[in-house]
Amino acid sequence: MPPMQALPEFAQSLATRLLEAGPGWMLLVLLGLVTLAAGLGVAGSVLVIRLRAARRRARRAAGSAEGMRDRLTGLALRPAFESALEEAVWEAENKGGAPVAVLHVALDDLRGINDGFGQSAGDGLLVQAARRLAQLPAIAEGGRPGLPNLARLGGEEFAVRLTADEAAAGAVAAQVCAALARPFEVEGQSMGVTASVGVACYPAHGAWSRLLPHAGAAMRHVRGAGGNSHALYAPAMAVDLREQALLVQDLRMAVERNELKLLYQPKIDSASLQITAAEALLRWEHPVRGVVPPALFVPLAERHGLIGPIGDWVVAEACRQAAAWRERGLRMRIAINISGHQLRHDRFVAQLEEQARAHNIPPSRLTCEITESVAMEDTAQTRIAFQRLRRAGFHVSIDDFGTGHSSLAVLRRLPAAELKVDRSFIVDLAASESARSIVEAVMTVARTLGLRVVAEGVETEAQRDILVRMGCDELQGYLFARPMSAVALALWAEGEPGHSCGTAFRPSLFDATSPAPMLH
Ligand code: C2E
Ligand code: MG
Ligand code: MG
Repeated sequence: MPPMQALPEFAQSLATRLLEAGPGWMLLVLLGLVTLAAGLGVAGSVLVIRLRAARRRARRAAGSAEGMRDRLTGLALRPAFESALEEAVWEAENKGGAPVAVLHVALDDLRGINDGFGQSAGDGLLVQAARRLAQLPAIAEGGRPGLPNLARLGGEEFAVRLTADEAAAGAVAAQVCAALARPFEVEGQSMGVTASVGVACYPAHGAWSRLLPHAGAAMRHVRGAGGNSHALYAPAMAVDLREQALLVQDLRMAVERNELKLLYQPKIDSASLQITAAEALLRWEHPVRGVVPPALFVPLAERHGLIGPIGDWVVAEACRQAAAWRERGLRMRIAINISGHQLRHDRFVAQLEEQARAHNIPPSRLTCEITESVAMEDTAQTRIAFQRLRRAGFHVSIDDFGTGHSSLAVLRRLPAAELKVDRSFIVDLAASESARSIVEAVMTVARTLGLRVVAEGVETEAQRDILVRMGCDELQGYLFARPMSAVALALWAEGEPGHSCGTAFRPSLFDATSPAPMLH
């Protein structure tokens, strides 16, 4: 064989000789080359398969070795789980085995339990959660000796492997959520948690090694949208760690670079169909990625300590906009979404008051939308924040109501003025008796406590009619308007041609819902 450096010259001289020798010779040599390549290919595949099998064996040995089980729950750990997953996918791929699905299960509010009841209560809850997962029929019947289908990934996170396609895996994910949502009895105390579950499937979502990361991305997506649900992986959720790091770097600059924008979605009075308020919804206009939705970047901002400056910007911008609308004669309440991190910050309410004062907005014209799960945390910090909000006179709305675990005792103490029924109940309203019963129950609770009820995500006339019949006070959703720019909302509210949908703005209606006088 010629040395590697000389290969081009060797090939050149071979080609010249072949050309001189004629087509018969060329065919023979080509056949030889093809055979050699095929041989190398087969040998290569055999080698890859052997290496894979060896890797699986090594990981399984590492995973099942003494002491490699989770000390607290007794479950398998990640290496053994990954090895079993690789094996199952290999079988599906090579032996026509059944489809494989992975669930990434995370308890949503373990930190609250640890803070409120102590670490040992949190540990006790994790042990019981693990037991409940292991007892679910789809999980109990799916394990094989040495090939675990349930593992603890660390902290409050578990992984489940299933023999299931996308639809069946989604059904098991729903069972997981329901099983974990049932109250736990730990150290003589009844406790509630919710779970976020991400689902990824082979072959739909890629090779075995991508299943856990993809299921994790789907789980984080669920969490970002408030938790207590499950979601099937979609490529838009796959912001891997490197991407995340890049995104966080960009996010640090987003406020300075003026890349954040607020869109506004009106809330409509269900009796008169007039606008009563506008909810500010945050968007990040990334110079390269385009518009990034809040479900993607708000959780990132929270995790990396950036929600403070972003939240401050939202408050300042929403107050500025409310003042600008007022100058134009539009006197509507403005609603902003407040994350748990903001609420827990010492200076949050003081800053809100400063901004409201700077723009002459009476606090009663500012709604703070706080999700049910944050509102129900009921820690010393959130209690203080709610007291401050009440003393300052801000209007508090409990967002995504019905998705968390409300304690009526806590709800009664909260200075809330409104409940926003979560979109998931509105979606099913026309088709599902249980969704209607839940919304009716929310109405009853709200009436008893003297709260207004807003339905979010109203998309159809059928949903609107049911809600009006039930006595829901305000409606919000694509049926009336999608989130839009401040300029578009003003035109729409004023009934400008092209923006009108029959809901002319009527300031008097606002006065009926808010007794506080305007400063200007
Ligand atoms: P949210 O406060 O519950 O807002 C409702 C979400 O549902 C919005 O999504 C809205 O665009 C969408 N929506 C409204 N009507 C309909 C409908 O009829 N059908 C459907 N399918 N969707 C509808 P968006 O704007 O992507 O916001 C998602 C979440 O991000 C918000 O949920 C809120 O929790 C959070 N968020 C938005 N802006 C901010 C902010 O300024 N600060 C914080 N901390 N969170 C924010
Ligand atoms: Mg909201
Ligand atoms: Mg909501």
